[in-house]
Amino acid sequence: MVLACVLGLEIELERECGSSRWLNVLRNYALAATIGQGLRLRFLKEVHKIPRVSVEAGTVCDGCNDSAGFTSPGLDSQSGDDFSLSQIRNVAILGSTGSIGRAALDVLAQGHPRFRLAAISCHTQLELFEQQIMSFSPKRAFVTGLSEEASRRWQDSNLSETRGKPTSGSSQRIAGRDRLVEYVAGPEVDIVLAAIVGIAGLETALAAAGAGKRLALANKESLVVAGSLLMNLAKLNGAELLPVDSEHSAIFQCLQSGRACSEVKRIVLTASGGPLRDWPIEKLPSATIENALSHPTWQMGRKITVDSATMMNKALEVIEAKWLFGLEPEQIAVVVHPQSVIHSMVEFVDGSVIGQMSPPDMRLPIHYALNYPERTPSPSPTIDWSKPMQLDWRPADLERYPALQLGFEVAARGGTCGAVLNAANEAAVELFLQQKIKLTEIATICRDVLDHHHYSPSPSLSELQEQDCWGRNEVQKWIQAK
Ligand code: MG
Repeated sequence: MVLACVLGLEIELERECGSSRWLNVLRNYALAATIGQGLRLRFLKEVHKIPRVSVEAGTVCDGCNDSAGFTSPGLDSQSGDDFSLSQIRNVAILGSTGSIGRAALDVLAQGHPRFRLAAISCHTQLELFEQQIMSFSPKRAFVTGLSEEASRRWQDSNLSETRGKPTSGSSQRIAGRDRLVEYVAGPEVDIVLAAIVGIAGLETALAAAGAGKRLALANKESLVVAGSLLMNLAKLNGAELLPVDSEHSAIFQCLQSGRACSEVKRIVLTASGGPLRDWPIEKLPSATIENALSHPTWQMGRKITVDSATMMNKALEVIEAKWLFGLEPEQIAVVVHPQSVIHSMVEFVDGSVIGQMSPPDMRLPIHYALNYPERTPSPSPTIDWSKPMQLDWRPADLERYPALQLGFEVAARGGTCGAVLNAANEAAVELFLQQKIKLTEIATICRDVLDHHHYSPSPSLSELQEQDCWGRNEVQKWIQAK
């Protein structure tokens, strides 16, 4: 049945997409589902509370409407899980030179010996990547962003030539995005830590889900753009989808205090408010790049730090939460919590609110996603209970953060909206970082592009790809017409 579903999906896409590169991705799913992983049809009964979905590509999830949605596993039910402490688990870290990738390498270096680093990948940051190859000796090292000539040179090089030091000698160098997509769907990998930034991470996330891997998902854009498709693939192929985004990891942990989705009243995503949270609203248009990148609590990459300043990051997380947990937008609240210690909360129907707390450090959600359902010592710092601490929050101000309003609207409409919003935002943030637009114009541009796009409620992969390109082009037109 799974084979029929996957091949049916492929045939449908072939009819719609012709010979697009997305078709190759779908072929990888079929191969992985049938050959690499076998006909597994494990409906995540203990791992992730994926909502009920249709097997048709592009069909929107039903949402959290009955107890079959995300019945909480409870700690006792984990005995007998095939993810046992005694098993060696091969981990691929995609985007290892980014902030999440670097944190993941630290978790593995200090973590349980059952985890083995199978592969790392980077786009173009070769200097740091070479250091990582030297330090961690992965079995394979992938580079995805080089030209053909540069790829050939890199594959032929080795550490002894490039750095004048003895080579570790064990890492195979492989160049090309297609090779990486093929690899994550193959038999060498058990866990894929998806930390590639932006839409560039979608292909590998889909491939991992289609191959039934444990997908530790830090790339929220995969869900924002193609949430329905990714969740369908994960469910069909028995993939274990564990959130790494700190808020969603917190929600996932808190949900285990309940037994059924009908017990959840709402989730509460916390937001730091970004570096400009206390600025007067009228001063926000004058914010510089340095202002926007001075995050008070989190050390992150430039794009996500700008997203934090505009609250677009939280908007994308609202959409991410809708898909991950099968919620209606009305069940998602956002509060500004400056200390970034409560990472998010779940309010149950009886009025009880369960929150997850820890110092702001991404190594904990990474560690949890790798080790779930076990809890083991992690390298993350812990709260110092001997010192006084104040925790407070306030409602998110939609006038200050118009991007957040966009997130709720996109979560409600679904379809092509996520792809367009994400594309417009990525392009607009780039323009801000080039000092071509003001910080406050990012949300204005995204609103304009979103309002003018050709909406489709059940898009195919090729339609999402087209909308992604269209959205980026529209931003360029916007700046040219300015
Ligand atoms: Mg987050």
